[in-house]
Amino acid sequence: MNLAFIGHHLCQDHKPGAHHPECPERLFAIADRMIASGMEMLVTHYDAPEVTREQLLRVHDPEYVDLIFNSAPTVDGELAWIDGDTSMSRGTLPAALRAAGASVMGVDLVMSDKHHAAFCCVRPPGHHAERKRSMGFCFFNNVAVGAAYAMAEHGLKRIAIIDFDVHHGNGTQDIFEGDERVLFCSSFQHPFYPGHGWETDAPNIANLPLPKLTDGPAFRTAVEEHWLPRLDAFAPELIMISAGFDGHAEDDMAHFNLHTSDYGWITRKLHELARKHCGERIVSCLEGGYELNALGRCVSTHVDELIGHA
Ligand SMILES: [Zn+2]
Repeated sequence: MNLAFIGHHLCQDHKPGAHHPECPERLFAIADRMIASGMEMLVTHYDAPEVTREQLLRVHDPEYVDLIFNSAPTVDGELAWIDGDTSMSRGTLPAALRAAGASVMGVDLVMSDKHHAAFCCVRPPGHHAERKRSMGFCFFNNVAVGAAYAMAEHGLKRIAIIDFDVHHGNGTQDIFEGDERVLFCSSFQHPFYPGHGWETDAPNIANLPLPKLTDGPAFRTAVEEHWLPRLDAFAPELIMISAGFDGHAEDDMAHFNLHTSDYGWITRKLHELARKHCGERIVSCLEGGYELNALGRCVSTHVDELIGHA
C-alpha cells in the first residue's frame, strides 16, 4: 500500500551554520537514495502545511513559542544561537513550522485512511525540544505536536511513540511524562548527550539506556524483551516514530554499531504491531542521522518496511 511522504522545500532553507552536521544535504541524500532504491515510485508526496499556534501550544509554553518567533533572524547570513549547538538562520522558522505541520498532516492522512502510514521527511528535527526549552538542533517537538493533535482532534486515547534515535528523546519525555494516553519508548546510548531528564518512575515512560558499541543483536534483544510485550499490552490506536538513524555504525555522531538491517527490523516489528492493533496506522518523523550515505540507505529501508510486504 502506498505511503504518504511529507516534506517541504522550505525545510532545506534551515541553515544552522558552516560544517553543522544537521545540514540541508541530509534531505538531498535521502531524496537521491529514494530514487536509486526505487522507493520513490511507491510513495505519494505531500507538501507539509505550517503548524498553527494552537497546535504548538498543546506541547510548548506560549512564552517559549514567542521566544522562537522573536529570535528568528531577518537577514541572510545572520545566526541566532538558542543553545550551544542550536542556531536559527533566516530560513529556520519557516522550516520548523513546516516540520511540525508535517506530523499533523501525517496524523490526518492516516486517521482518514487515505494512507496507512506517513513518513515526515523534515528538518529541523524535534525530539530534544522540551516544553519550554530548545536544544540539540531542535525547536518544536514535531512528533509531540502530532501526538497531541491526534488526541485533541481525533480523540485518541492510546498513542505509542517509539524513539530509536541514538540520543534520548528528552523533549518528548518532558512533554508526555505522566500522561498515560502516551506510551513513550526511547532507546539511547548511555551515558551520553543529552544526559538529563531520562530517569523517572512515570509508568508511561519505557526508557532503554544502552552502552556504547551496542550492536544489532544486543539492540534487537533489548527491544524484544523490554518494548514489544509492553507495546502489545498497550494496544496503541496509533504508532508514532521518532526515526533517528545516528546509531548507524558509520555515523560519527555517536557510538552504536547498528546497521541498515537493524532499522529495517525494528520498523518491521512496529509495522506488525500496527497491523495487529491499529489498522497499520504509523506516522514517522525524521530525527537524527548525519552520515549522509548511511542516512539515505536507512530512510529508504525504513520507508520500505513502513509500506510493508504482507
Ligand atoms: Zn540523535
